[in-house]
Amino acid sequence: MGQLVIVSNRVAIPEKNAKARAGGLEVAVQAALKRKSGIWFGWSGKVATQTKIATQQVVHDKITYITLDLSKEDHQEYYNGFTNRVLWPILHYRIDLAEFSRRDLSGYLRVNDHFARELHEVLGPDDLIWVHDYHLMPLAKALRERGHKNRIGFFLHIPCPPPEMLTALPNHERLIPSLCEYDLVGFQTGDDAFNFSRYLTRECGLHSHDFNFMVADRTIRIDVFPVGIETAAFAHLAERSVRLPFVQRVIRSLNGRALIIGVDRLDYSKGIPQRLSAFELFLQTQPDWRSKVTYLQIAPKSRTEIPEYADMEQEIGSAAGRINGAFGEADWTPIRYVNRSYGHTTLAGLYRAARVGLVTPLRDGMNLVAKEYVASQNPDDPGVLVLSRFAGAAHECKAALLVNPYDPDSVAAAIGQALSMPLVERRERHEALFRVLSHNNVQQWADRFLTALEREPTPLSRLEQMLSVEP
Ligand code: UDP
Repeated sequence: MGQLVIVSNRVAIPEKNAKARAGGLEVAVQAALKRKSGIWFGWSGKVATQTKIATQQVVHDKITYITLDLSKEDHQEYYNGFTNRVLWPILHYRIDLAEFSRRDLSGYLRVNDHFARELHEVLGPDDLIWVHDYHLMPLAKALRERGHKNRIGFFLHIPCPPPEMLTALPNHERLIPSLCEYDLVGFQTGDDAFNFSRYLTRECGLHSHDFNFMVADRTIRIDVFPVGIETAAFAHLAERSVRLPFVQRVIRSLNGRALIIGVDRLDYSKGIPQRLSAFELFLQTQPDWRSKVTYLQIAPKSRTEIPEYADMEQEIGSAAGRINGAFGEADWTPIRYVNRSYGHTTLAGLYRAARVGLVTPLRDGMNLVAKEYVASQNPDDPGVLVLSRFAGAAHECKAALLVNPYDPDSVAAAIGQALSMPLVERRERHEALFRVLSHNNVQQWADRFLTALEREPTPLSRLEQMLSVEP
């Protein structure tokens, strides 16, 4: 019986007190490794200063963490270049922001090859391999080229746009079809899976039966696995955290005003400028709420080396200042805008204290903040989630107030509706949302993916038979 080998761009080696800050992927990977022990392999997050690139191994709690550093050139071309300036924008439907260079593409392929070379040293023939996210799309191909016949799965945490957009990626034909080297390709939503299957049909001439594609002598399966959170643990954490001195201080500082909370990495996909405009419109069109609400936007900086991110930071800072200047009073600041990040313990308490969770990305693979906000609510007196229809989470969170983030009128109206929603309706919506999140927590997500990956594929002959009876 082989072991589970998880591969992701970054690996988080556990440190003391790290639990409270665990990011979404880390929680997900830990859930997978709870079921089957093994290896977590990826980049250490460090850029090597010397020419010899070292690989480190650490064993902790029966998990072997294998990390490698990136050279300066690899970091620039693979990470800052191709993944963050080409794949991230295009997969988030922002072709206009993509900046393609052949050099970055070759850096991306080189790092994937480097990962495969290092993995080759540790892989056993029965190991089950689970590769995460857009940084590593060609990894299975690089492993197959080294003769590995293992079952290999891939999960895309971010959106997959329609083929009309994927084909705007220069050299897409070298990259996207390489996903066919996996046995299982998982997506967050049915729309993402459908978009990818349309790409395979349109661009690669492949045909599917029930999301099984036949490629040469193998089949690849496409399926939907919406990523979850540790729902029950988050709910318990929030119950305790709301009593933390810091959270209590924040609550007191509101002077009885209703709290609206937004928590997002500073990223153009999160739609923060549009959200601020919607909040401004809310204050203009529903003046009775002035002085009665405080909107707290937590927005830790990310990818600061990339100019679009620096520009956005400027734009958001000045919009928040302008709105505060226009609507604020000597004793009331409508928007509290902070660029620092908080651990899950503090966030859970703040979510619970907030009457409205404002989660309005322009496009998001899932959006864990939306789920964390729901899990943190007091079921007897819950807050209301206002959620973009373009977040993956909207597919499950149908009982939220779903909005179009490009339409400030709809967001402004939803903020007003959320703030004045009667208790009975708030409870009903929360109960429905919490039920969904309890049925699909992060452990169930990992279990479902791994069960599907372990399952033998439908034999080709059987598929051909099934296809031959189709008109
Ligand atoms: N997060 C955090 N501290 C912060 C802001 C965010 O721990 O100050 C966490 C948040 O709780 C969530 C994750 O970062 O677990 C963000 O995940 P999401 O899917 O919402 O967005 P992403 O940043 O992955 O695009």
